[in-house]
Amino acid sequence: MKYSSYVGLEIHIHLLTQTKAFCSCAARFGDEPNTNVCPVCLGYPGVLPSLNEDALFMGYRVAHALGCELSRCTIFERKNYFYPDMPKNYQISQFAAPLGGAGYFDFEVRGGIKRLSIRECHFEEDAGKLVHAGTMTFIDYNRAGYPLLEIVTEPELVDGEEAEAFLRSFRRLVRHLGVCDGNMEEGSLRCDANVSVNEEGRGLGVKVELKNMNSSRFVRMGLDYEVKRQTARLKDGRKVEQETRLWNENRDVTETMRKKESASDYRYFPEPDLPPFCPEEAFLARVRDSAIELPLARKRRYLEAFALTEEQAELLLEERAVADYFESAVALGADPRSAALWIVGELRAQLARSGVEIASCALDPGRFTSLLKILAAGRIQTTIAKQVLRAVLEENRDPEDLIAERGWERISDRTVLASLVDEVLTREAAVVERIRSGDRKPIAFLMGEAMKASAGRAEPGALKELVMERLA
Ligand SMILES: [Zn+2]
Repeated sequence: MKYSSYVGLEIHIHLLTQTKAFCSCAARFGDEPNTNVCPVCLGYPGVLPSLNEDALFMGYRVAHALGCELSRCTIFERKNYFYPDMPKNYQISQFAAPLGGAGYFDFEVRGGIKRLSIRECHFEEDAGKLVHAGTMTFIDYNRAGYPLLEIVTEPELVDGEEAEAFLRSFRRLVRHLGVCDGNMEEGSLRCDANVSVNEEGRGLGVKVELKNMNSSRFVRMGLDYEVKRQTARLKDGRKVEQETRLWNENRDVTETMRKKESASDYRYFPEPDLPPFCPEEAFLARVRDSAIELPLARKRRYLEAFALTEEQAELLLEERAVADYFESAVALGADPRSAALWIVGELRAQLARSGVEIASCALDPGRFTSLLKILAAGRIQTTIAKQVLRAVLEENRDPEDLIAERGWERISDRTVLASLVDEVLTREAAVVERIRSGDRKPIAFLMGEAMKASAGRAEPGALKELVMERLA
């Protein structure tokens, strides 16, 4: 008997707004507990929510990027349940008319491209956070009322590898859109899953919800474990129970959490204090105008138009600012392949060391391009180019000025080089003697010494010729 597995994901992203979804409290991670709270997000009687339109705008942008149909009139519901992290005893969410539906997302997996259908995107507010310490539990309501977008996919993934690949691509998308920082450790991107296994050709099986997967690696491990567990049960002739399970990252297993409520248990009803959001044409036009080239399309373009390697393209596209920087340099006339090489190599390393963002670093795309051009023209050596790059970053100076001022141009004048070589050979007379008596090994040492004597500026071909000539 063959079995098929079906995995769907529910992804929550924190939208990067200044304030919460329905009040003016700051939406900021890491503040003192219970300092970003007010009567609205604490659910005091008689207060009224007011909708944060920036948050809705971000939600619509994500839905648009996912090819969803955008709702012309989206409504808010109360999802009722009791939990101590939710002071109102209900969550404002969307049920009947989410802001986006029927989309899709293409991502790379197993060397190909897979298209995953997106069922819907809906807007909702986050709950507070419970912090367990020994026998005590603390509640931080700073997060209560954060704007969230939940993205629900169809169950078209088959295993953990596909889910992890999707999640990584999706994370890159929301970061490129600038609507979410995608930080799974801080909970600004969270992923739950539903998994079912059935005999091949018989459609979905009994659905198990899977929670508590706090990294894309745990998503892969949790789903693979769950698919195996269900398949093994079915092979044994046992049933899979409908339930919610948690990934236990210490034991690498999934464990029963609770029997699942169905949607009707939540008693969704329209939120009486918020009117439907029916965006005007101008709002939707703004959503469309703010669309970006999707990272996957951008990557294809880099491979085809610029002949970059897969790895270079991936590294450039990790951050949108880096990709933008690369394209600015290319537009200014930088050679794409050497620009890519220097950005993902030396520049990236230097910025990581200093903690400066690429968009605000002293080596702007103009200076970077002029440095690459000076290097390509053979006016400086590669090692010197690295020195120039570091000096520009540290001193905020123009590469051309630095090179002129410090005398960093390459030396190819044979008279100058010859006197450098002679100096080294005189100093290293003993080594020269060894070479002349047949030991070829120290030639490299002499070359190195001569290069050092030129402060790394000598033209290597000419230098080698001169050393060999003098030794002969
Ligand atoms: Zn508030």
